[in-house]
Amino acid sequence: MIKVVSAVKDVRAVVNEWKSQGLSVGLVPTMGYLHEGHQSLIKRAVAENDRVVVSVFVNPIQFAPNEDLATYPRDLEADKKLCDATGANLIFHPEPAEMYPDGFSTHINMDGLTKELCGKTRPTHFGGVCTVVGKLFNIVKPDKAYFGQKDAQQLAIIKRMVQDLNFDIEIVGCPIIREADGLAKSSRNTYLNTEERKAALILSKAVKLGEDMVKNGETDSKAVIKAMSDLICSEPLAKIDYVDVVNALTIEPVDVISGEILVAIAVYIGKTRLIDNFMISC
Ligand code: AMP
Repeated sequence: MIKVVSAVKDVRAVVNEWKSQGLSVGLVPTMGYLHEGHQSLIKRAVAENDRVVVSVFVNPIQFAPNEDLATYPRDLEADKKLCDATGANLIFHPEPAEMYPDGFSTHINMDGLTKELCGKTRPTHFGGVCTVVGKLFNIVKPDKAYFGQKDAQQLAIIKRMVQDLNFDIEIVGCPIIREADGLAKSSRNTYLNTEERKAALILSKAVKLGEDMVKNGETDSKAVIKAMSDLICSEPLAKIDYVDVVNALTIEPVDVISGEILVAIAVYIGKTRLIDNFMISC
């Protein structure tokens, strides 16, 4: 069974040994409770690197006090099986105190890209993400790191951080993996009851509607946002957090759809906040 280590020094010892043999290393950062979405990242990492580290860490500093840190689903045994079956070589599963010991004082904060979309309702979230990912990069020192387009703003932010802070790491973005009926796979889908699970389909339906409009030549962001919002509002259990059209690289809102575009949504289904998006180049 795959080896699990919880101390920074132990990850370093394993990775240094690999590097001394000239082996390349891929990193897949996760919060665990792994599903086929995570697995697609691990598969890609296994295909492109000699060795693969999966980090499983529910990062407390990316949750606001009113969010779901305490209830976030965890199942390390299942995660070990999935990593093992997919060909990963090491799980890094630290305790919060290993990552944030007493006296921890240094954070990575980004302007610009973190302010729109999820940054509006989760103003401290991306600072927590950048800080933990920066630490993971320094701990594992991977050649490549893998992130899902499911979290498209996060992916853009990590690419920007790597460029700005000169991390010598290639960031690989991987497509969104969906359930058979279209719902984007997410660890948070487990919060949904049967009725909410049905209602949650409105996210992927709205994404499909928006994507079809743009593919059919619609260039007015407002028209796309309105059509998607109207569809989401037709579902009684859904409450919109945002429906936005932004530049995929800068995450700045755009009025006219042209270039690299990200259309992203966040919607509450009952108490559960879900996200989905599509990217298009036009
Ligand atoms: P998380 O455990 O939610 O922090 O996610 C860890 C990584 O898996 C992130 O890079 C996510 O974007 C990616 N991921 C999560 N769900 C999916 C999905 N449905 N398809 C592709 N990647 C995903």
